[in-house]
Amino acid sequence: MTHQIRVKRRIALGMLLGLFATVGLSKPAAARVPYVDTILGRDIAAILALAGRSGLEVTAPFRELTPTARAKSRLENAYFRVSLASDFSLRYLKTHHLILIAGLPDEPNAFAVGEAIYISRALLDLLDDQQLTAVVAHEVGHAERGHLLERMGNLYAGVLVHFWDTLVADWRYLSRGQIDETMAELISKGHWATLLQTLGQVELGQEIQADCIAWQWLESLNRLGYRNRPDDLLSSIETLVGVSVDSLMREESLAPRVSRLKYRAHTGGRCY
Ligand SMILES: [Zn+2]
Repeated sequence: MTHQIRVKRRIALGMLLGLFATVGLSKPAAARVPYVDTILGRDIAAILALAGRSGLEVTAPFRELTPTARAKSRLENAYFRVSLASDFSLRYLKTHHLILIAGLPDEPNAFAVGEAIYISRALLDLLDDQQLTAVVAHEVGHAERGHLLERMGNLYAGVLVHFWDTLVADWRYLSRGQIDETMAELISKGHWATLLQTLGQVELGQEIQADCIAWQWLESLNRLGYRNRPDDLLSSIETLVGVSVDSLMREESLAPRVSRLKYRAHTGGRCY
C-alpha cells in the first residue's frame, strides 16, 4: 500500500470515528450507554435463571416465582407508571421484564440487570403500591444509565489490579523470600484497598443517581395527578430496612443517600 493511500485511509477512519462520536454525543445520556451493557445484562440474567433452577440451596434466592394475578398486576402497574413518567422514552421500554424471585425472607431486595428487574417476594409483600413504584423507578434508573456495565467494568479492573498485586507478591517471594507479610500488606494498603474504596464510592454515586432519576419521575407522576410522591423513595427504604430516617442517617453507608432524600436535594436537580 502506498504512503498516500495509507494517509487517506487514516483520514477517512478519523472522519468516521468523528461522525460516530458526534452522533453519540448528540443523543440523550441514556442512549449513549453502549449496547454491550444489554448483552452483559442478558448473559447475567441467563446465568441467574439457571442458578435459580439448579435446586442448590445457595442459589435458591434466585428461583423465579410465578406471580399471582394480584402480584402481576401490582408489578405491571408500577412499571407502567414509570414508563408514563418517563414519557415512554426508556431504553428498554418494550423489553423490560419484572421478575419475581424467592429471595431471602428476611432480606427484601430488588436489583436491575440490564432489561431484567428482579423483585424479591419479601419486598413485594412488605411495600405498598406507591413504595413499590418508587423501588421500580429506582431500578429502572440504574438500567437507564447502564450502571451494570460500569459496575462490571470496575470489577474486572479490580481483578486485574489484584492479579498485578499477586504477581508483585510472587516476585518478592522469589527474590526475597517474603510471602505472607507482603501479600497482606498489598491487600490491606495497596491497590486492592484503594480499589475497594473506589468501588464503594462508585456504587454510592450510582445509588444517588438512580434515586435522583426516580425522584424526577415520581414528581412527574404527582403532577399528573397520581398518588405517587418523591417521598415514597425514603419511605420505601425505611420500610425495607425497618428503621426510622434518623437511624438511617446514622448509618455511614446510607447517610449520603438518605440525607439527599430527606432534604429533597433532587428537586429540580440534574441527575449526573
Ligand atoms: Zn440501587
